[in-house]
Amino acid sequence: MVTILDRTNLPTAPPLAPAEEKRARHPEKAHKPDTEVLRKPEWIRVKAPTSKGYHETRELVRSHKLVTVCEEAGCPNIGECWDKKHATFMIMGEICTRACAFCNVATGKPNALDKEEPANVAKAVRQMGLSHVVITSVDRDDLADGGAEHFEKVIWAIREASPETTIEILTPDFLKKPGALERVVAAKPDVFNHNMETVPGNYLTVRPGARYFHSVRLLQRVKELDPTMFTKSGIMVGLGEERNEVLQLMDDLRSADVDFLTIGQYLQPTRKHHKVERFVTPEEFKSYEDIAYTKGFLMVSSSPLTRSSHHAGDDFARLKAAREKLLAKA
Ligand code: SF4
Repeated sequence: MVTILDRTNLPTAPPLAPAEEKRARHPEKAHKPDTEVLRKPEWIRVKAPTSKGYHETRELVRSHKLVTVCEEAGCPNIGECWDKKHATFMIMGEICTRACAFCNVATGKPNALDKEEPANVAKAVRQMGLSHVVITSVDRDDLADGGAEHFEKVIWAIREASPETTIEILTPDFLKKPGALERVVAAKPDVFNHNMETVPGNYLTVRPGARYFHSVRLLQRVKELDPTMFTKSGIMVGLGEERNEVLQLMDDLRSADVDFLTIGQYLQPTRKHHKVERFVTPEEFKSYEDIAYTKGFLMVSSSPLTRSSHHAGDDFARLKAAREKLLAKA
């Protein structure tokens, strides 16, 4: 899953998603002491979303009763992405069964799956004329298959309604859900993304419900099941990780044959979330990018505002071109 926007000191934060106004988003964090909020450097500031395109996308999302991670995670890129009609749809509801320390998606007991959702998502993708779509979901540990069948149905519905649209999925880890991953891979998305989120040393405090090597193995297994499928993963930095830990994580992902790595700055959604330990400079992001390329990733996106679905359509075209170039050399 993704995270994002610091609402703690940003006057230009996007409007709250409707669900956010109705209920406590993070009941499990209510007792936690407030964390210190660092002032954001100038390279991280974003403008309030105001454009006509943004409002059109918002209307479309509302009218199809869709949930987007752009809103639920409070993504800082929403103004830019929605203006260009890029949105990341979040399926299986807006309530997550995990409670990661970085994530702004609401936590609690999820509702039953919406049987109409695959058709509604497919309709919206068609109506928006998307050439590339990113579908993510909340964690659904409450479902026997972790939501694999629902992913499958959404992929099939989009394929049927928009055969030319390429599909990128950003999935949960399907921990203790045997057969779930295989089912999703068999539905043949074009890009399989699963975010590592952070370095292994941070898992207990940042992503306590997940297991680092399970996530690495999941990405490796995708490639074993379908070597032609593009795999992608991302992390946030600024969570207290050391540089050498990031480099080790790159090696771990390369050993799982991951094609595309994204690295972005962690931003703290509220004072109850994990603190931003520091703001990584644009120069450091560039250095991570250079190193990741030398380690063999086909594509790397590393910048303060990089998010796993930011520019995903353009990046998919570049990813394909990079693989073709590599194959031509072989
Ligand atoms: S970067 Fe992704 S999550 Fe953020 S607004 Fe763009 S599409 Fe949505």
